[in-house]
Amino acid sequence: MEREENCKVENILKPLELTDDDYRKVVDLMQEKMEEGLARSTNDKATIKMFPTYVRAVPNGTESGEFLALDLGGTNFRVLLVSLQGQEVKMESKIFLIPQHIMLGTGVQDLDVKCLAVINDTVGALMSCAHSDRQCAIGLILGTGSNACYIEKLERVEMAEGNEPGPPEMLINTEWGAFGDDGCLDFITTDFDRQVDKHSINAGKQRYEKFVSGMYMGEIARLALEKLRKSGLLFGGEGSYHMATRGRFYTKYVSEIEGDDIDSFKTTKQIFQELEIEKVTEQDCRLVRHTCSLVSRRAAFLASAGLACLLRMMGRPEVTIGVDGSLYRFHPFFHDLMMEKIRTLAPGIRFKLMLSHDGSGKGAALVAAVASRIL
Ligand code: ADP
Repeated sequence: MEREENCKVENILKPLELTDDDYRKVVDLMQEKMEEGLARSTNDKATIKMFPTYVRAVPNGTESGEFLALDLGGTNFRVLLVSLQGQEVKMESKIFLIPQHIMLGTGVQDLDVKCLAVINDTVGALMSCAHSDRQCAIGLILGTGSNACYIEKLERVEMAEGNEPGPPEMLINTEWGAFGDDGCLDFITTDFDRQVDKHSINAGKQRYEKFVSGMYMGEIARLALEKLRKSGLLFGGEGSYHMATRGRFYTKYVSEIEGDDIDSFKTTKQIFQELEIEKVTEQDCRLVRHTCSLVSRRAAFLASAGLACLLRMMGRPEVTIGVDGSLYRFHPFFHDLMMEKIRTLAPGIRFKLMLSHDGSGKGAALVAAVASRIL
């Protein structure tokens, strides 16, 4: 009986387990799509847009001066005054709520301030890490969404307009979340992923991002757990309103369950109490943890495939990757899983994964500082 149950569990969860050959194929496909995005003749139809950022250099540690950095989120607006003096960075910041009339206004900003740069969060992560580590050449976000930027040779950046003097390099904002929007990742897509995509606000779009980022991992896990439960393999087949509700199983639960003490499963039991699942056995806890870990492993390994692709394209012997985002920051094993798989997929390249601090503030100020240094 137990053997039969294990077999059923395996059949349900197996599609979440990919082989190294699958991951290698993802690396190859991503490189193909990135090359399409870089080239002017194919950029139009390319899924990965590879946007030129016009940022031409990373900090060299000699930057100095005072810079304003404006961090505009959905609700809050943070204004930072950043003073740079070599490695010394001083920051003062103040948060403002954005009034409705400004939010809906024309955006014409009557101030005597020179705008040197507009950046996205990947560039902020790269720049803030590069300030203390000169090998930093990739910025990665693993938060609500996922995206990465990297340093490309200027001659390969065919989409860049103008011919400004400066170093022969440019940061590229890959927008890699859209990888797979042409269906090329269908070979790794499970029924759980298809459901997540179908019910999302952007069905058919950001397919790679939906495998790897915090907005979706909890929901993928919930769908897998519900399938196990409906097959009578979990919680004695008994569900709850919460577990049947889309988006209710948060990605932070995945982190908490995987980080739980496997002797007591105290946190896991608490989570399911909150979700009004009445009877949770030790065996249930083990299966829940296993399911969550399969979802996380696949996400971390697919993100690693993306990084292996960038490492291969850059061809540098040593690279530091600046990473920001709550998924990377708080998941108990994401860092280790990524280290393991990047080693496998990009053999012979020395790399580090470095947590970025305040990319949106310090990173933005550094872009302005570097721009004023080289312009
Ligand atoms: P954003 O990417 O929106 O700037 P964050 O980096 O904080 O902001 O990412 C938010 C995402 O991180 C959410 O989708 C959330 O599900 C996920 N998240 C929050 N806490 C955790 C956690 N403890 N473990 C894993 N993911 C988490």
